Amino acid sequence: EKEIAKLEQRAATYQLVSGSDRQAVLFETLPLSKRTREGLQKAKYLECTEIQRKAIPLGLRRRDILGAAITGSGKTLAFLIPLLEILYRERWTTEDGLGALIISPTRELAVQIFEVLHTIGKRHTFSAGLIIGGKSLKDEQERICRMNILISTPGRLLQHMNQTPGFDCNNLQVLVLDEADRILDMGFKRTINAVIENLNRERTTWLFSATQTKSVKDLARLSLRNPEYVAVHDQA
Ligand code: ADP
Ligand code: MG
Repeated sequence: EKEIAKLEQRAATYQLVSGSDRQAVLFETLPLSKRTREGLQKAKYLECTEIQRKAIPLGLRRRDILGAAITGSGKTLAFLIPLLEILYRERWTTEDGLGALIISPTRELAVQIFEVLHTIGKRHTFSAGLIIGGKSLKDEQERICRMNILISTPGRLLQHMNQTPGFDCNNLQVLVLDEADRILDMGFKRTINAVIENLNRERTTWLFSATQTKSVKDLARLSLRNPEYVAVHDQA
């Protein structure tokens, strides 16, 4: 209890002292839970990349984020770390249902995100699952209702929203749209709009994209509320 109150306080002030200079920021100096810090240490992540340094403090304060950063800049941890922290501070348990939803354009990318989550989330007790098709719908249906964190591809997710009894997203705290430009390039615009219509509005949303096209801006307008804009360019 005490640890959580302290973390919340430090997260609120962190942005003020960290500023936007180019100084290195070590993960251990961020207001993160012991569990997350240990997960990061185990995986030998020591220092934030630029997108992580900018996005994590905003994420911890539950701001909506429109993030523009090139491939390889470290976006996965930029959203997974605050996602874990938000659920931890909410004392999320199995009974609370789905707390965080990550949407990725392809199965391969979804699996990569899952692996990073598995590594840095080892010390947490949340349940996490992949919803990417390829297996029987029925298998997924049985597991999906017990998950706290889901990583999914758009088509399969919408299929479950329409067809899986008891799949309830009403309690969702965090939505992540990863590689939004690729999601749209692959023709998922209507699918993603339909998914968003099924979600509660009180959630926090983070949209990451390598490029800022017109269709990404449209999706941002539809899915984000008063977002902070975070950009990282080539020199990172
Ligand atoms: P993006 O999603 O922006 O393309 P990733 O999140 O996949 O980038 O990260 C790219 C690579 O950088 C991965 O191999 C990842 O392990 C590594 N990486 C990410 N953040 C850090 C960090 N803070 N310290 C060291 N390596 C990192
Ligand atoms: Mg990525």
